[in-house]
This record gives sequence, C-alpha cells and structure tokens, in this order.
Amino acid sequence: MDVKKLMSDLEAKHPGEKEYLQAVHEVLESVSEIYDQHPEFAKAKIIERMVEPDRVFTFRVTWVDDKGEVQTNLGYRVQFNGAIGPYKGGLRFHKAVNVSMLKFLGFEQTFKNALTTLPMGGGKGGSDFDPVGKSDAEIMRFCQAFMLELWRIVGKDTDVPAGDVGVGGREIGYMYGMYTKLAREYNVGVLTGKGMTWGGSKIRPEATGFGALYFVQHMLEKAGKDIKGKKLALSGFGNVAWGAALKTLELGGKVVAISGPDGVCEMPDGITPEMIDYMLEMRASNRNKVEDMATKFPGKAKFTAGKKAWSVKCDIALPCAFQNECNGDDAKELLKNGCWAVAEVSNMGCTPEAIKAFQDAKILFAPGKAVNAGGVATSGLEMTQNAMHISWTEEEVDKNLHQIMHSIHEACVKFGTKKDGYINYVDGANIAGFMKVAQAMLEQGTI
Ligand code: GLU
Repeated sequence: MDVKKLMSDLEAKHPGEKEYLQAVHEVLESVSEIYDQHPEFAKAKIIERMVEPDRVFTFRVTWVDDKGEVQTNLGYRVQFNGAIGPYKGGLRFHKAVNVSMLKFLGFEQTFKNALTTLPMGGGKGGSDFDPVGKSDAEIMRFCQAFMLELWRIVGKDTDVPAGDVGVGGREIGYMYGMYTKLAREYNVGVLTGKGMTWGGSKIRPEATGFGALYFVQHMLEKAGKDIKGKKLALSGFGNVAWGAALKTLELGGKVVAISGPDGVCEMPDGITPEMIDYMLEMRASNRNKVEDMATKFPGKAKFTAGKKAWSVKCDIALPCAFQNECNGDDAKELLKNGCWAVAEVSNMGCTPEAIKAFQDAKILFAPGKAVNAGGVATSGLEMTQNAMHISWTEEEVDKNLHQIMHSIHEACVKFGTKKDGYINYVDGANIAGFMKVAQAMLEQGTI
C-alpha cells in the first residue's frame, strides 16, 4: 500500500479536513503491511472505498432562542460505512463541529463498532450548536428542530444515532419525543441512550467509562500490574469522565484530577462519591466550568486556571474529553512525572506526536476506538433488547459489556503484539477492525 500517495490524493480531494486526514493516516499506517499480504483487497480497491463515507447529509436547523431571536445552525449525519450493519454512532453538539470532525468520527466509529463483535456499521452526526450557556427550553427547541430534518434519515434498521459530546440523556429524550410525533412510529429502536422508562438499557449511561476501566484492567493485568491504589488523572467532567471515575473508585483506584476548558481540579486525596455525583450537576448546568467543583468542595479540590489534567502527577492518564486534547508536550510532561499507562477514552484524544512519545517510551498506550467501545457496544445491547421487546437486568448488561471489552482487548493483543513483545494497541485495534470490515465489503461485491 502506498500510504504517501493515498494520503496526498485524499488531501487534494478534501483540503483542510485536518481531523479526518489524521484519523485516516493513522489507520493506513497500521494496516499497510497486512493489506499487502491480501492482494484481493487491492484488486477490489477496498482501502480507496473504505476511506470515503457512504453518504453525508447536511441540513439547516432553525430555532428560536429565549429572547425570541431566530437562530440558524448546521446539522449533519455522516453514514460512513454500512458493510457490517446499520449505521451506528453518536450525535455531537459543539461549536467546532464541521464535516471534517464528523468524518473523522464516523471513520473511527466504523472500526470501533467492528471491534465490539456486534453487527453495527459506522456513522456520526451532530451540529455546530453550542450548548454552553443555553437554557433547558433552548436545548429542547434546538433538539426538536434538529429532529425535523434528521427523522427522515434515521431508522432502527438503517441508522441509529446516540449521544456524544454535548448530547446526553436529556437531549436524546427531546429528540426521541419529536421523532415519535413526526414518524408516528413508537419504535424504541431508533435512538439509543434512551431513558429507563422508554426503552433505555441499564448501564448505558455508565457504559463508556465502565468499559474503559474494564479495558484498562485487562491491559494492566497483561502487564502484570493492578489498578488498586494507583493515581489516575482524567480530563473532562462529562458523562464519560463520570462513568470512568465511578468505576475507578469501585476498583480501588484514586482519581486525583479532572479538568475542563477553564483549567484543572486537583484532588490529592482522591475524588469522593459525592464529588462524582456533582459532576452530573456540573454537566447539566451547561456552564462548562470545572472550577465549580472546587467552589462546591473547597477543602478537597484545588482549581488552577489554564492548566490541563496532564500537569498533575499520576500513574495512569485517561483523556475523556475531546480529540487531540493531549499533545506532544503534554505527553512529555506525563512521562516526566512518571505516568506509565495512557488509555484514550475520548475519540482520538492524543495527537500523533503524543502517541509516538508514549510508544517510544514503551509505556502502555491504548487508543479510543478500543478503550471507549463499551459505550457503543452497550448501545448495541440496547438495540438487541428493543428488538426483543425486553429489558435485561443490570447484571446481564454488565456481564455482556465485560465480555465485549475482554474480547476487544484480546483482538488488540492478537494483532498488535510485536516481535519484541511490546503490544502496539493502536495497530492491534486498527488491524482487527479493518480486517472485519474489509472482509464484509469484499464478500458483498463492488458496490
Ligand atoms: N458517541 C459514542 C461513541 O463515540 C457512542 C455512540 C453510540 O452509542 O452509538 O462511540
């Protein structure tokens, strides 16, 4: 595979789509060798087809704010790859959302979903709507306006959206309400991350964080280590960081930092259950400030403006917020402070420079598409329950989630172990996901 040529062709076709090109480049680097061992892939032009989304929808979303002013945002749904099942992936509401970001996320989602062992294709959507500072009524009106367009695109067997950054249970509720009104289909399978009284799955809210910690446990176990008593630094304070903090505590680890766009909160004695509960209120307030934690718990959390979680001394770092939130300099600082394991819980949380620094130092590093796959996997379990018209118990869902994370870890080890014994989890996840999607595309012919 000529990675250079493929990348320069893509750059010419999609100039300026930075995140998308970064995500594609990483996968091409990982799969290049195995691709060349399968001439049937090249013959069917699998890679040229796989890097382009099946289709992209763009639409205008117009709504009225609390002052009575008319606002217009852009809405998107990227149906990236449907080879192994209906498109599946979250909706992101964030001011920086654009086609490049959603294409990168849809591309990553395709491989992530393949890793879950469940039959789900890759998709992603969202809007440049900025939830920061918006009232609950504004959030509702925006979600309803967004669904006015989205409802024609989605469906339980075609495309099943869920939450992502800026979209949680509340937003899914407002969108679902509008969907049933428009479609007159009281079909619970069209969105996942639903409320418990209308088709949601137990453990789905916690699943991304819980799954990540299960993955970390396996990774540590393989390296002969244990999480008990270890210090963890987390970025963000949203749904993902919340679930990760809950499970960390349960497993005997200590969360010593969480962060936000405004700075970092250091908690030398570790986060407490009350503080973890408060994270939910912080997210629901739409203030987007981690400083609120230090204001609420003055003796226990110390806020420093403008600093990242990566400035706090830790054993294990978990990026839980946004893409490229940990860069080469952050990686150097983490390594200098003795950090020996990094697991991306956000999608593409580390820059290529940061990943290189971790891998050169031979510390444990695992990528988002493996670590955070528990979220979408539990969405898949929600779809299964919806299709069967039943609800599983917490124990049943958690057991399934645990098994899936175990099998993802196994797949990474199988495809990522190098000659010297070092496990390159990036290669492992990319190759395992790629092989499954490539095989499906090959068997379905040239379409
Ligand atoms: N947004 C999550 C992810 O990045 C979950 C998607 C889903 O549940 O469909 O995987």
